[in-house]
Amino acid sequence: MAEVIRNVLVVNAGSSSLKFMLFDMASERMLAKGQVERIGIGNALFTFSTEGFSEKQSPCEVPDHTAAIRLACGALTDPAKGGCLKSFSDIDAVGHRLVHGGERYSAPVRLDEAALREIEKLSPLAPLHNPGALQGIRGCEQVLPGAPHVAVFDTAFHQTMPEESYLYALPKELHERLGVRKYGFHGTSHRFVTERAAALLGKPLDQTNLVTCHLGNGSSITAVKGGKCFDTSMGMTPLAGVVMGTRSGDVDPAVAFYLMKNGYSAEDVDALFNKQAGVKALCGSSDMRDVCAACEAGDRDAQVALARLVHSYAMYVGGYVALLGRTDAIVLTGGIGENSWETRAAFLKAIAGLGVTLDEAANRATRGVEATVSGKDSAIPVLVIPTNEELMIARETFAVLTK
Ligand code: AMP
Repeated sequence: MAEVIRNVLVVNAGSSSLKFMLFDMASERMLAKGQVERIGIGNALFTFSTEGFSEKQSPCEVPDHTAAIRLACGALTDPAKGGCLKSFSDIDAVGHRLVHGGERYSAPVRLDEAALREIEKLSPLAPLHNPGALQGIRGCEQVLPGAPHVAVFDTAFHQTMPEESYLYALPKELHERLGVRKYGFHGTSHRFVTERAAALLGKPLDQTNLVTCHLGNGSSITAVKGGKCFDTSMGMTPLAGVVMGTRSGDVDPAVAFYLMKNGYSAEDVDALFNKQAGVKALCGSSDMRDVCAACEAGDRDAQVALARLVHSYAMYVGGYVALLGRTDAIVLTGGIGENSWETRAAFLKAIAGLGVTLDEAANRATRGVEATVSGKDSAIPVLVIPTNEELMIARETFAVLTK
């Protein structure tokens, strides 16, 4: 039976952090948000804000995720802090962000013991992310036992990829026995901007072809065919694809073997490719604000890093435009896509071969808002659409429970 759902709490838990946002689903308005950092480490930090109120508490005692969610719910029901809710039972549902749903989950799932056991089995695919999220779910279930809990997976949107997109050219047995294949990530963001782009273009979702570019510290580019993922740049893990802040993106895998034959351990190579690579390795900073300022000041390393970055974006966009046949729009989102006009300008110049042109003035003026940044004569319009992964999780949670 469909349930009455008004307030949805969205929870994004990691091994030592828990972020939350409360939405009123009638208006889709965000009522409050906050985060707890350093869970179980000591000297925890709690930040919370609601309309007309914000606070930072530090240090506080937060030994585990149960204590973290209790702290969050305490603030949500405290009249002195904006008083969004009267009691914990006013939270009608909880939507949990899960990084990896493997091949098992192509849609959100209402959580019960069986689903939790299934998700636990997927932890080897996302050892840094899924276990923390599971601790968050267990904590929330203790504090909010009456509310339905739903898991929304970052990988789910990409489960529509055909075999020619997701299979690696490796022995089949590795896929079947160990789950070695492309999964893709940032799916909640790609889905959000896909739905919004279709609405802005005035096209039915199932007839909308896009290249969606989520460009931030972590970045991925997705080919969307008929509203569904056709291919995406990240792989079995979020290391593959375009150049990122501290991640290498695509590198000849033999570089790893070469390093390991030259004294690097597997852990060294993992840390090197994930944390000491990308734009940071090329010019010393992973933040595009610093990189673009350094480019402007004539720093050669920063200029090469920016050129290498947009080169990698252009390679994926070009390939995906070829695969799609017809592309209705290229969509830019994420911290860089929404805010960095310099990176957008360099990116659009790198794909000029596709007939894409830049509206210099519109591009410069756009920061964190919806806009068209391509010229009127552009062969493919380029739209900036701010993402809202938390709202998408709230919507998907609502949809699962009210269908
Ligand atoms: P995200 O991971 O989506 O939060 O994106 C983070 C990245 O977005 C940062 O590292 C910056 O490089 C970039 N960014 C955020 N705000 C701005 C801004 N105002 N101007 C340029 N780049 C920005």
